[in-house]
Amino acid sequence: MGADECNINPYHTYSSERLWNELIFSEYGVEVTGSGWDYRSRKAILAALKAVGSKFAETTEEEDSASEAFRNVYHTNDESLVFLWNENCWGCRPVTCYETGEMSGSCKPKYGFATGTHLIEFASLTDVGFVSDDVLFQRWTNNMIHELGHVFDYRIGEAGRNSISGDLLNRPDGFRTGGGLGTMTWQMSGDETPSEIFADMFLGHIGTGSQSMWADDHFGIVRANHMDSRMRAWIALAINQ
Ligand SMILES: [Zn+2]
Repeated sequence: MGADECNINPYHTYSSERLWNELIFSEYGVEVTGSGWDYRSRKAILAALKAVGSKFAETTEEEDSASEAFRNVYHTNDESLVFLWNENCWGCRPVTCYETGEMSGSCKPKYGFATGTHLIEFASLTDVGFVSDDVLFQRWTNNMIHELGHVFDYRIGEAGRNSISGDLLNRPDGFRTGGGLGTMTWQMSGDETPSEIFADMFLGHIGTGSQSMWADDHFGIVRANHMDSRMRAWIALAINQ
């Protein structure tokens, strides 16, 4: 396998925003834009869209495909859901930085932020050298699913975060650990706010698309049941509102 063979792949060679958007992401009503995306991070977005869409499709009334279910839930038939690479992403900073305009040091924008029902911004992706590419790819995919969880919560009028209280607000009980990056694989945030806990529970519910991912303990069952018993109604709400 020489370098020439890599260059035959048009996506690899051109890494073209337009090709990806027109040939691949448009099926989901998604647009991926900005200068920081590369082949691997675009593939992580696609993996996230497939996982989320196929999980939704299990629940919707119609015999939807993964992409149809995704478009109906996120209302992307008319307006794209944009993944924007933005190193100056205002929301991609610790909450403690929000009151100031500080954008450097500990307030430097990092990772992703769901800015509304049609915009997810990313300032960076986890980049550590001590894990395999597969582990890192899973982490990136999960980061995308977590942000889609925030957008889903916006779509259902914050019913997701409003359902989280009591024991559910704890970490890391119930969240899956391991997977090469320990708690960082299935928990994208360390915050114990209802919003962040919900986005990580959305991630646990979606899992790999075919399998939900929870800790093998009492709280894993509690979190799984919490999501399993509500997602059908929430998906219907998201579609119909
Ligand atoms: Zn979050």
